[in-house]
Amino acid sequence: MTTLPRLLLALLACVALAAPAASQTCPVVPDDAFAFINAGSDECPANPEVFWTDAAVPYDCSFLANGPNAIDCGGDASACVALCEDAANVWNADLPGRFTFVAADDTVDFCDPGDGKVSIGGTTTLCDGSAYGSRVLAVTLSIFYSGGLQAGQLIDANITINQAFQFSQPGFQATLGHELGHALGLSHPDQCSDDFNVLMRSASLFTPQSECFVVDPTTADIRGAERIYPVVNPTPNPTPGVCGDADLSGVVTVTDGVQVLRASAGLSSSCTAARCDVDGSGAITVTDGVNVLRSAAGLSSIAACP
Ligand SMILES: [Zn+2]
Repeated sequence: MTTLPRLLLALLACVALAAPAASQTCPVVPDDAFAFINAGSDECPANPEVFWTDAAVPYDCSFLANGPNAIDCGGDASACVALCEDAANVWNADLPGRFTFVAADDTVDFCDPGDGKVSIGGTTTLCDGSAYGSRVLAVTLSIFYSGGLQAGQLIDANITINQAFQFSQPGFQATLGHELGHALGLSHPDQCSDDFNVLMRSASLFTPQSECFVVDPTTADIRGAERIYPVVNPTPNPTPGVCGDADLSGVVTVTDGVQVLRASAGLSSSCTAARCDVDGSGAITVTDGVNVLRSAAGLSSIAACP
């Protein structure tokens, strides 16, 4: 008998609001104005919970060029597709070595909830057939494991844009950039008591004519995505490797002396020549061990590692 995985849907609806008075100044955005999709009980988790295990996710904007899934994006069909791809590429440029939206090179089925590919297109209902809420511009429907060993792992995400709206081109790109932020695991900071003028705000406060208009991910949005996706294959910080600090503890201690003596005897050790050949003789010897023990005891010693 197999156990069915527990799945959860996150339905992130993104609302349009009227622009405020033109005199309003752009709010200052703190760097931590981001939020994560929650996989468990905490509505606004402090740490990322929902993520793609393979941080190279296929997406397909070409539906925007099809009649049934076209959108009034302020340009022709090819412009709509290009704006969609621009929105994905901006995230890619902001997350080097971390996360990539990859243009799908094969056939993607629209709203397929299990293909692991992000389909993007205009609709009159959500992917699950339910209605858009009032003033809802777009919705990202994410599917991930809600429990078990795979908790938080995304299975799929699909983006639908409400065909009831007419977009300007910048407004359309901002909407797609926002939805792609959901697709990679971000939520709305303003729904977690962090209401700032970031791309992932649940509602766009400003028209594209406003200087406060956000079309691309802000520093705060990017920091949130960086929290979800640490650098792939990070380069370890080079350790200065104090001469004599065999175990890299940062200080030279008796333990290091023991490590050097073990190395000199051909036993397993944390030594490298750069840390343990303290007299620079070209070999790790008992003399080096004695020097390290002298150093650890605060006595005069040699520290001339190669
Ligand atoms: Zn949203």
